[in-house]
Amino acid sequence: MSKKGRKIFRVLLIILFIGFLIPQNLKMPVEGAKQSDYNSKSFWFYPWGKSVAHKGVDIFARKGTAIYSSTTGIVLSSGEIKRGGNFVLILGPKWRLHYYAHLDKVKVTSLSFVNRNSKIGTVGTSGNAVGKAPHLHYSILTLVPYIWRIDDDKQGWKKMLYLNPIKYFED
Ligand SMILES: [Zn+2]
Repeated sequence: MSKKGRKIFRVLLIILFIGFLIPQNLKMPVEGAKQSDYNSKSFWFYPWGKSVAHKGVDIFARKGTAIYSSTTGIVLSSGEIKRGGNFVLILGPKWRLHYYAHLDKVKVTSLSFVNRNSKIGTVGTSGNAVGKAPHLHYSILTLVPYIWRIDDDKQGWKKMLYLNPIKYFED
């Protein structure tokens, strides 16, 4: 590797390292939600339609309830997709993506900075939640795979990417 190449590599390693140092301090994203508003066993619930296993948690609340970012971060993307409906995708500490789906309204734009006091949207029934009880589908994905978490469950290999949000709520 050239001298310049080595320097760029070193800078990237430092940036990667700093990302891991930022504390996550995860906050329940749905305003006023309690343990009874979600099923503690909903992570990797199987069978789960087209998703096969449920790779997140569904937090039930009245339509229009505020959703706050669970961590500090940068909004990478927001808008509307088929299954997720109105969604927000935030890059947070430790190179983890936070995915919020089925929103009624999205209140942030891409590339904006958010913290745990930022209202990012409201609870709704968009995407494949149409006709169901209003809820937030919330997933956490790590960009750095945790391969030691792979197990024999259905699609268990994907457990290197999807982390269980409930674990952080209840810590
Ligand atoms: Zn869900």
